[in-house]
Amino acid sequence: MEKIPFVTKQQLEQIIEQFPTPFHLYDEKGIRANAQAVREAFAWNKGYKEYFAVKATPNPFLIQILHEYGCGCDCSSMTELMLSDALGIRGEDIMFSSNDTPAEEFVFANEIGAIINLDDFTHIDFLEQTIGKIPETISCRYNPGGEYRISNGIMDNPNDAKYGFTKEQLFEGYQRLKEKGAKRFGLHAFLVSNTVTNDYYPALARTLFELVVEIKQKLGIAIDFINLSGGVGVAYRPQETPNDIRAIGEGVRKVYEEVLEPAGLGNVAIYTEMGRFMTGPYGCLVTKAIHEKHTYKEYIGVDACAANLMRPAMYGAYHHITVMGKENAPCDYKYDITGSLCENNDKFAIDRMLPKIEKGDLLVIHDTGAHGFSMGYNYNGRLWSAEVLLKEDGSAQLIRRAQTPEDYFATFDCFDILKDMRYPK
Ligand SMILES: *Cc1c(COP(=O)(O)O)cnc(C)c1O
Repeated sequence: MEKIPFVTKQQLEQIIEQFPTPFHLYDEKGIRANAQAVREAFAWNKGYKEYFAVKATPNPFLIQILHEYGCGCDCSSMTELMLSDALGIRGEDIMFSSNDTPAEEFVFANEIGAIINLDDFTHIDFLEQTIGKIPETISCRYNPGGEYRISNGIMDNPNDAKYGFTKEQLFEGYQRLKEKGAKRFGLHAFLVSNTVTNDYYPALARTLFELVVEIKQKLGIAIDFINLSGGVGVAYRPQETPNDIRAIGEGVRKVYEEVLEPAGLGNVAIYTEMGRFMTGPYGCLVTKAIHEKHTYKEYIGVDACAANLMRPAMYGAYHHITVMGKENAPCDYKYDITGSLCENNDKFAIDRMLPKIEKGDLLVIHDTGAHGFSMGYNYNGRLWSAEVLLKEDGSAQLIRRAQTPEDYFATFDCFDILKDMRYPK
């Protein structure tokens, strides 16, 4: 499928008059339409809830938009809990799916009434000692080990993943939690990341539904909610077919009717914790070509770098690039598109066929709406970019300003160096 930016060149030229490049731009219209589609796809399940994985895009404006469609927050750290709480999203609207969790985070999660999703068997006692009780509602994260296959393809190796309880621990864990006073139970698993197939959720659902039936038979404990977590992916490459959330919802419904209902478990609520699927395609990194370099290869240097988008450097991830205004020009130049970090992996694209790029051209790097800005870091003293929302009415709103040198140096306030700092005009 051809990848077309959600913003036109003309719109971008107006936006950059207000907000200099680089910045992440988000598409309000796209986020809303997708959130609505997710809600409809699972409307067959009475208790359905999507907990947006805050780590994907921890921006209050975007979280607020998603909240209008019934989304809660999936938090993994103290600051994510604080952000959600400050937005008034609390209580069972928060799923606290963390791992290697510090005690104070359990305390705060409990204080604001979040559903705690335990990553490990030993956390049962740790939680009880930390907050003085086991909450009435509690969830456990399952790791089946081995390889996870759907039909004939192996998808991932849960065996190597640090997350979750083994099956034996899970059975013992629920029993223990019940003895300690828990009354409502959840089951959670995240087995594969960025799946581009409508079969992942239904296959995961079958694994979890069958397990829930077994738990009921062996322990007499009826699980109240099943959290399919994240992992629904995005078609980063033009030749991939995007996931169809309606087909995914229908696929889960079939397995629900086949496995849970006959076992008398037709009241189980389905939860999801999607991040990437909720915002990934509805964000892009807007950057400008500032240098061209001809050595053993052809390079285009842009004003963004891996500090603004780490995925290509970290995972070799593909992000499609559109040179604005040259959509119909032949892609007859082979470029490495580079940032300025003193790291040779700071390349948004390697050997990418693109139209001839001139200095000053605007480049749109696609699908940065999740795990984009949020993975940013400050290596080389590079600062975080701004985040801008392209609103439904076509106007642009700053939803996070760019980091400034003052922000960057602020943690040196224990030295008196700050008074000597000279800032460029
Ligand atoms: C990262 C994460 C998610 C979201 O994953 P996506 O691939 O962005 O959908 C959900 N749940 C947990 C526990 C996670 O760590």
